[in-house]
Amino acid sequence: MCFNMDSSSGDAYKVEAYVLEEIFSEWGDPPSMSEVDKNANSATTSKETPCFSTSMNAEGTKPEVSTNSTIGNVSSATTSIDTPSTSTATNDDEPEQEAYTTSSTRRGGAEESKDDDQCLSPLERFRPGYLWVTDLTRQNWCEQQLYYSFTIPTIAEENPVMTAGTDYHLARELATHDIVKVDVQSSEDIWAVKMLNLHSAVCTFLHGGIVAREVPVFGAPFKEDILIVGLIDELRFDPSNYTIDLIELKTRLSSTMPSRSQRKQHNFQVSVYKTLFDDLVQGKVSKQFMASTLKINLHKELGDSIRGHAEKQFVVIKSLNDLMDIIFHKIQTLTCISQVFIEYVHQESKQTIGHMEVEYDAVKVSDLYKKYVKFWRGNRRADGVDIEDAWKCQRCDFNSICEWRKKKSAECEQRNKKNAKIK
Ligand code: SF4
Repeated sequence: MCFNMDSSSGDAYKVEAYVLEEIFSEWGDPPSMSEVDKNANSATTSKETPCFSTSMNAEGTKPEVSTNSTIGNVSSATTSIDTPSTSTATNDDEPEQEAYTTSSTRRGGAEESKDDDQCLSPLERFRPGYLWVTDLTRQNWCEQQLYYSFTIPTIAEENPVMTAGTDYHLARELATHDIVKVDVQSSEDIWAVKMLNLHSAVCTFLHGGIVAREVPVFGAPFKEDILIVGLIDELRFDPSNYTIDLIELKTRLSSTMPSRSQRKQHNFQVSVYKTLFDDLVQGKVSKQFMASTLKINLHKELGDSIRGHAEKQFVVIKSLNDLMDIIFHKIQTLTCISQVFIEYVHQESKQTIGHMEVEYDAVKVSDLYKKYVKFWRGNRRADGVDIEDAWKCQRCDFNSICEWRKKKSAECEQRNKKNAKIK
């Protein structure tokens, strides 16, 4: 398996949308810019972005909002659509311990809606009914921290490290395809952009290409009926044995390999990506489920701009329904992911620090995922970190108010007193 960046690809391109603000208002409140920035701080997080954001940002976080209907740029269709295209992992040295803005901030400080909010599950309260893979990876770092990030205001700080990682990601992405912006007029158009980018990646392999970067994936893994959206850094196709490998890029501030906790988090992230991709290949993703979750009309006519870009990919469509039928059919002619790797790159020198092969353990990923889903559905409270990960609390923005930490600290004190008495 070769990890070199190859350059690229003749006519390949990816679309990103310019989105009208009104579209997003139907879906809920966008995360604040600070949320986005903070997100980007973690390798994982930065990559995907909610579709409903209204501000633009590299990490896929916030699509650029514009009322202008010309073609914009894209960092990946993804970007505007739901995933950031550019960067990804920006800084693995500072994992997911960052804070975000409060829900009240995001909700415009509407105190009167507070009581209503309490009755909603975290999925309904903090997300527009579906999740990004980065939500899950942040949860993997510390679920309590994730919860606080939604409910307690913090001050976002500039993160130059993130920018460097984003630039590096973008450079790699541009080595395989150009990015063009496309005007979108509806929620359906926005999802069509994502679909077109997936279609582009699938066609790359079907036409003999070997590398696709920033590949959108989505689905409802492990039969849990929750839509998850993600963005795979890189897929590599080997036509000689018809295999596809997944490579996740993580840039690091330090030139050393990551800690056990970070590796665990990254492993979970890429395992979810593989699950999503494999489910698409195996025909397990339902367009009706997506339509009902996203509250979109599969038969609504797509905008001219979207249809024009589809034609450039030799696809004649009227609606998202047509587009999804074509994509689902084509992706099922591919194969599931064979091997999963994480590539760690030193941010300053751009030198590869090392590669790690991830052993996909479906049972382990499924068990963890089902546990996380219970939190999102409101079936259990958020958990903090285990004792062996207590070091994370030292770097956590919420350590001074964290109830979990107080509880664990009190338990520890009691245990020590008991042990002292025994002695
Ligand atoms: Fe999690 Fe520790 Fe932060 Fe509490 S203090 S939110 S347990 S990392």
